[in-house]
Amino acid sequence: MIYEQIIHDLDEIIGNNKTSENVYNTFEFAKKTIQNKDVVIEINPKINPELDNKLANSILGGMYFSKNKSGVPTLIFGQEYLDTYSENSSIHYIVLMHEFRHLYDYFLNQTSFFKSNEKEKFQYELNAVNIEGEFIKYYLAGKYNLSECEDYILQSYEKDNLDSWTIANRKESADIFRILNNLEREYKQNIISKEQLIDKLIQKADQLLSKADKFLNLYDVYNANGKDIFSRYGHFIRIKTFEKYLKYIFNGESEMREILMKYPEFNNRFNMIHYLLSQHDQANALYSSSLDNYFDDNCVNG
Ligand SMILES: [Zn+2]
Repeated sequence: MIYEQIIHDLDEIIGNNKTSENVYNTFEFAKKTIQNKDVVIEINPKINPELDNKLANSILGGMYFSKNKSGVPTLIFGQEYLDTYSENSSIHYIVLMHEFRHLYDYFLNQTSFFKSNEKEKFQYELNAVNIEGEFIKYYLAGKYNLSECEDYILQSYEKDNLDSWTIANRKESADIFRILNNLEREYKQNIISKEQLIDKLIQKADQLLSKADKFLNLYDVYNANGKDIFSRYGHFIRIKTFEKYLKYIFNGESEMREILMKYPEFNNRFNMIHYLLSQHDQANALYSSSLDNYFDDNCVNG
């Protein structure tokens, strides 16, 4: 089976190289669960049209980790992913390492993993994206001719802690997520008061809103010229990420509502953000899908 060949070839690359313990341990762990049949392998099952479409046409999204109908953890390989494999195609190993990290996190958190809320899901996603960066840096760079997409991941890993790669590929900002996580921790550990938290959130919102005049409109996307279009997209994704994960700082939606009522200054920003997101959503979604196509077309080297 091709997938066995891919795992075997990846095993050759990693070998006894423990430069990244994260990569090494994750791989060894995943390999064992497959050998022990704690994880089932499936090839291109028809699960749902959205996933099938991705599986059929993409290498980057061409396989994933899930559980099957009987609740057994499963690695699902799409046909396109398998068909395009060659020994020199390092992107296949990167995609596999990403899913192996999900598998690893699943076994660490078996009862909660598939019940994760959006915030927990993105944390798992960051774990998996981070292993892509580490794997490229310590196991592929200098040995493989990196594709444009792989080089992009490596640059992002080294220069901006994967913020630009998560913006481009996951449509969320790792930086903003980390900022909100830190504020949540400080607030819940009583390092900062509620008033201080609100002040900091207003400050952050103002900083993000100050870029609102740069948010993309449909006209900009259709007439895309110049390099700044990605950074303009990034401004939108940052504010979108801010809006999405804000509520997790508080103890549920009810505390969030209470706070919005109590702090009109904060409420104003929140409403403004909502409005701007709805105004620019379509244009950014369009640009985002063109990014997906770009990275998928440029993920194989040579
Ligand atoms: Zn993932």
